[in-house]
Amino acid sequence: MTGNATRVQAVQNITNRQPMPPKAPESLSSLWASDVFTLSKMKESLPKDVFKSVKKTIENNEALDVSIADVVALAMKDWALSKGALYYAHVFYPLTNATAEKHDSFISVQNDGSVISEFSGKVLVQGEPDGSSFPNGGIRSTFEARGYTAWDVTSPAYIMTTDNGATLCIPTVFVSWTGEALDKKTPLLRANAAMNKAAKRVLSLLGHTDIAPVNSSCGAEQEYFLVDANFVNQRPDLLLSGRTLFGASAAKGQQFDDHYFGAIPERIQVYMQDAEEQLYRLGIPAKTRHNEVAPGQFEIAPFFEAANVATDHQQLLMTVLKNTAKKHGLVCLLHEKPFKGINGSGKHVNWSVGNATQGNLLDPGTTPHSNTQFLLFCGAVIRGVHKYGPLLRATIATASNDHRLGANEAPPAIMSVYLGSQLDNVFEQISNGKITGSLNAGVMNLGINTLPVFNKDAGDRNRTSPFAFTGNRFEFRAVGSGQSVAGPLVTMNTLLADSLNWVADSLESKLSQGASLDTAILTTLKEIIDQHGAVVFGGNGYSAEWHKMAVEERGLANLKTAADALPVLKETYIEELFDKLGVLSPVELASRFEIYAEQYILAIEVEAKLVVSMAKTGIYPAAIKYLSDLSSTISNLKNNGVELDNARLVQIAALLKSMMEAVDKLGSAIAQHDFLTPEEHMQFCAKTIRPFMDEVRYYADALEGEIADELWPYPTYQEMLFIK
Ligand code: ADP
Ligand code: MG
Repeated sequence: MTGNATRVQAVQNITNRQPMPPKAPESLSSLWASDVFTLSKMKESLPKDVFKSVKKTIENNEALDVSIADVVALAMKDWALSKGALYYAHVFYPLTNATAEKHDSFISVQNDGSVISEFSGKVLVQGEPDGSSFPNGGIRSTFEARGYTAWDVTSPAYIMTTDNGATLCIPTVFVSWTGEALDKKTPLLRANAAMNKAAKRVLSLLGHTDIAPVNSSCGAEQEYFLVDANFVNQRPDLLLSGRTLFGASAAKGQQFDDHYFGAIPERIQVYMQDAEEQLYRLGIPAKTRHNEVAPGQFEIAPFFEAANVATDHQQLLMTVLKNTAKKHGLVCLLHEKPFKGINGSGKHVNWSVGNATQGNLLDPGTTPHSNTQFLLFCGAVIRGVHKYGPLLRATIATASNDHRLGANEAPPAIMSVYLGSQLDNVFEQISNGKITGSLNAGVMNLGINTLPVFNKDAGDRNRTSPFAFTGNRFEFRAVGSGQSVAGPLVTMNTLLADSLNWVADSLESKLSQGASLDTAILTTLKEIIDQHGAVVFGGNGYSAEWHKMAVEERGLANLKTAADALPVLKETYIEELFDKLGVLSPVELASRFEIYAEQYILAIEVEAKLVVSMAKTGIYPAAIKYLSDLSSTISNLKNNGVELDNARLVQIAALLKSMMEAVDKLGSAIAQHDFLTPEEHMQFCAKTIRPFMDEVRYYADALEGEIADELWPYPTYQEMLFIK
């Protein structure tokens, strides 16, 4: 191995690394949820009536009886102390995709100078972090910096153990002093409630009398990369922006597909087991898999849970993956596109809705009754995705996710629904009003005489669709790997709530005009598919034909960049949607646009500055050194009567000149700051700054292929992806 001194040193460090010994395996039953204050632990430690009250709040979404908080707090504290925790923290989810914690000690100093541990119901229920440093999009001015956290009883408290000790963590919502949501959890709880209400309306119109609260569920598949920390520490781009802004492709990429299901390096296996063990302790039902396409890329997918809990667990999972990597001398990259030319990382959000009495409402089921019910819920999703497709797109709009969407490795930026051939056919027949039978004879009887029977075909998959029905749930496949799943879940539940209300209105009005329930259902379904069927697409979502057809014939939006997509949040029909369902007030929605636009601009500015500085201080000097070596060698040889062609010298000098011209253009673009609106600034980032960054990179990567390896300052793709 050649390479410059620090790169060689990095490789040596990795080669000489003492492997972390695998931990002695513990039994799953002793690990499972051992760091969680579960319902069963509450049952053991709380008086019967208090436990009953808490359980009711958790299971039926009933309001919390604050008078019991002191008793719960005491039990929680005793349990936490028994686990060695000296601190507690209200954990909340600001609008940054991150997790925030405000730590406090249980310690309370008495008048006589002695200390006792203390944790009252009041501090369990409400906290007051200094909110001024969290983004609020203009909701609060800093002099009114107060923000409040409030206990979310429906998500269990847990102990987080790090090198700094153990902390009792209490999941909370985070709101301003005027009650506006400053976080991602509050709208999720509200969207769930709106969906519950609408779903119950439909279920009761279908004749159900016993209807348990309807909740949404989520199972998120998380992709990530692992790179040795020795390399990352030498890459300012990875350190500060999470992705490589330079780097020529390695001779070998993912073309052999040999990473897929390939043997996992022992070191990675030890890492995964370590992470899994912690996740089990936290009651997160993780299942690791190693089957990602790109070298150095892996996946972990927990079983699905109630959406709110799954969201908190997803945040925890990302934290555990990152912290554990550090312990193992690795860096876990959750960025959507850490390496050019190699598949990026996504987060498939599997989502469904259901309850204890009717079960999974997106499961076609086996009884005729549940099949028509299923079609109505499925139809409601179709309507929602069609009506609010641009909102779905805006929900996943970040500077980093732009690198994946539409790049033939992830779904395009056009939001469409994949149903599978059989369901396609059922809806087509409904639309034709001429029902002739099922595509595949058999199994499923729809209970309405005029509807065909059909098979469940869960195996039927389309990897190119952003929103696919997968047998008993939808899978939103365009979500970015580094994103919180809260946003997508808020949008999906909200659009479903809107559609279910529409379905209920439609059924009610048809029934009141004397239609039978069967006719009311059928005509409602027909209206849905006639008006919204344009969003259903089963073909190749990556193809150029689809991109053309979607926009020109079907009228679907193709919002290519986040700069195109985020302004959707300002549209009146979106504001009305969130407002009428009580999910986000116009002020809350406007603040989200401000924050996400700012994050987009900041992300690109940071990258652009890095591109300039790495090009100037790393790549330029390396190229100059090589040119100087080369030219002095050529003239020395010439003095000695040997002619060495100077074509390479000329070629490299030309590349370097072009690179620096692009750097200068980028430098002046960054300096530009006179924008009238965030929209204008975002477009400038997308259309001017990004192309200049690409231009610099083009020449820099070409130089990497030309100059001496021992002079190249940054760890290469080959090193980062293949040395573990
Ligand atoms: P894929 O074939 O896309 O890789 P996996 O089986 O790996 O799918 O992951 C599917 C995810 O969907 C898992 O997290 C699983 O628990 C989740 N899932 C299954 N049923 C539901 C449901 N009803 N609601 C939400 N998520 C679900
Ligand atoms: Mg999937």
